[in-house]
Amino acid sequence: MIENEPLAKHTSWRIGGPARYYLEAISIDELRNALQWANERDLPIFVLGGGTNLLVREKGFPGLVLRYRAQVWHIEAHGATGVLHVAAGAPVAGTVRRVCAQGWGGLEWAEGLPGTIGGAIYGNAGCYGGDIAHVLERAHVLVDDEVQAWSTAQLDYGYRTSCLKQARRRSGTGPYEAGSRRVAPMVLTAELRLTRDDPTTLAATMARIAAERKAKTPWGRSCGSVFKNPVVPDGTRLSAGQLIDQAGLKGARSGAAEISQRHANYIVNLGGATSADVLRLIELVRTTVLRQFNVTLELEVQVI
Ligand SMILES: Cc1cc2nc3c(=O)[nH]c(=O)nc-3n(C[C@H](O)[C@H](O)[C@H](O)COP(=O)(O)OP(=O)(O)OC[C@H]3O[C@@H](n4cnc5c(N)ncnc54)[C@H](O)[C@@H]3O)c2cc1C
Repeated sequence: MIENEPLAKHTSWRIGGPARYYLEAISIDELRNALQWANERDLPIFVLGGGTNLLVREKGFPGLVLRYRAQVWHIEAHGATGVLHVAAGAPVAGTVRRVCAQGWGGLEWAEGLPGTIGGAIYGNAGCYGGDIAHVLERAHVLVDDEVQAWSTAQLDYGYRTSCLKQARRRSGTGPYEAGSRRVAPMVLTAELRLTRDDPTTLAATMARIAAERKAKTPWGRSCGSVFKNPVVPDGTRLSAGQLIDQAGLKGARSGAAEISQRHANYIVNLGGATSADVLRLIELVRTTVLRQFNVTLELEVQVI
């Protein structure tokens, strides 16, 4: 257990104050012990994945930040199909690369996707024509002290959302406090569907995706897309990046934070940016896009 651990070290934006307590667990028993320890002290709990979709404020987090680092995985083969069993702490991109190299397809869209399996399950991460909701068979989730198997239907997926995310949103930006629980259900492992494929073809697809990702990703510290792509009343999904670009906001700065010149839905930390810098840009984008296009932008990133 570490006290006053700077969360800037654990977020891709490199922004954020300290966690009062910080612990990395690699087994379910360690997780349970940590949860019990925090509950006995009546501390709020936040589950951290790779920190690639979070904006942590300078005042930090007053309770326990818990990171599950188990990364084990194996493939259960059934002829031409298979199931990847993978722990929530495994990095998405690295795992997908290893699985594809063994001739298993279905996850190649996630080439280069930052973050962990747990974070991806939580937010229904997706890109390049795929998302978690379309490949997940089930997830094992720690609810209170019990490990439960949740089907994809139970996770109630939508665009970049799940029931896990909705539950937290309903209770505000802090820890989940519905009922008697102090912490949102925690993803422990996932089972993802695979199909046999040619490793050379998979490698070529992933190289194409990697090149596209590299071309559009701004240099520097970011959290990926800050806003969700909004849906307008006729049902069309617009590009948040294009709206921000058309609003003339590329290159706008607040302190050391900048709306990227390369991809307008990214806010980049130029070095030493604070959460207040980023939040001012978020507000600027929201008000300008609403005024100019009458479109309300919703955050994809989570503010702690
Ligand atoms: C350069 C860049 C590019 C990106 N591109 C994409 C993209 O193309 N598509 C996309 O969808 N996203 C993208 N992202 C955003 C990010 O990679 C995803 O949202 C990712 O899934 C977040 O995972 P994480 O492990 O970092 O989660 P974190 O940021 O650590 O946490 C996010 C949320 O997940 C919860 N969580 C994490 N682990 C668990 C767990 N085990 N159990 C329960 N809850 C958990 C946390 O409590 C938190 O609420 C990008 C980010 C960056 C920096």
